[in-house]
Amino acid sequence: MANVPLLDLKAQFAQIRAEVMPIIDQVCASQQFILGEHVRALEEEVARYCGASAGIGVSSGTDALLLALMAAGIGAGDEVITSPFTFFATAGTIARVGARPVFCDIDPATFNLSPPAVQDFIDQQCLARGDSLINRGTGGRIKALMPVHLYGQSADMDPLMQIARRHSLRVIEDAAQAIGTEYKNGARAGSIGDIGCFSFFPSKNLGAFGDAGLCTTNDADLAESMRVLRVHGGKPKYFHAVIGGNFRIDELQAGILRVKLKYLDGWTQGRQRNAAYYDAAFAARELGSKLITPAALPGGRHIFNQYIVRAQNRDALKKSLGDHGVGCEIYYPVPLHLQQCFAYLGYHAGDFPQSERAAAQTLALPVYPELQPAQLAHVVATVAEFYA
Ligand SMILES: *Cc1c(COP(=O)(O)O)cnc(C)c1O
Repeated sequence: MANVPLLDLKAQFAQIRAEVMPIIDQVCASQQFILGEHVRALEEEVARYCGASAGIGVSSGTDALLLALMAAGIGAGDEVITSPFTFFATAGTIARVGARPVFCDIDPATFNLSPPAVQDFIDQQCLARGDSLINRGTGGRIKALMPVHLYGQSADMDPLMQIARRHSLRVIEDAAQAIGTEYKNGARAGSIGDIGCFSFFPSKNLGAFGDAGLCTTNDADLAESMRVLRVHGGKPKYFHAVIGGNFRIDELQAGILRVKLKYLDGWTQGRQRNAAYYDAAFAARELGSKLITPAALPGGRHIFNQYIVRAQNRDALKKSLGDHGVGCEIYYPVPLHLQQCFAYLGYHAGDFPQSERAAAQTLALPVYPELQPAQLAHVVATVAEFYA
């Protein structure tokens, strides 16, 4: 029986080992572990890759979001509109700066924040006072939008940017799963809003050997602010006009990521090839509404950090795949408005039906680039057998 893990990073490491090990050795020999030449070069290379003018390397994707919120001046009394169907850190960081996450439902085809849902929320529950947008229910001031490019596909940014401009809102892109993702006009994730936040967690398309992340921006003031906040707000060192944190990326991780960045487009093509294989193979099995394959919007570039299907009888399919040696996972089983820690926000089951349906129906199948044809065929055969 073929064994198909959800993700296998060993094959990738074997491919780059001969290039990576000397870099690790070189950094160790230099004993320059903090904010050195590799960090500076990685920031420049990733910013260029994303079509942004500046990059700020940080300690994780979560810290990228936290740093972005701090640089945007978001704190107590402020509110940030985001999706409830995402990884916890998206809303967790909003709450950690003292602001309030405000959820709007997702588009059922892409699983991304729905611009009409955001517009409805603003029309029905907010009032514009001078330059400010006030949430009538809480009295808080809406300060920013935080769309997520979930699974590697861009959120619908044009209408979101229009809403943001109309109400002077900052836009922080949670691009943790979206390095190299393109919106329909070719604009890359992280270059559209005010700040883009990337994660180099090992399971992301560009993964470090541990935790790391990066913020991109086209705004020189925000870039400077993030650089200062990254080192406790000290400028010059030991003189603090603002309170920051330690959000630094390691030199070792930056050196490793620079090697991997050269391979990223090839790996992305491998993921896209595997996704296209699944699309065609599942279509040929005529599973109809039992299994709905992901919708890649025309004109964009979906980098398939995850290949997500909507599956009838999802939990039983997951068990069957597991029994047949196929790794699969639910991203994410509980939408954030129903998380225990956010009970104080006052949301209830039924508030965001599309997000709740997605949490109940979706499943991630293995899509990493090194998958072998026999493994892909085994996944398709196992799914088809389950529904036969
Ligand atoms: C991975 C991820 C994060 C957090 O990144 P870390 O590097 O794990 O801290 C944030 N948002 C989304 C959507 C993610 O997928």
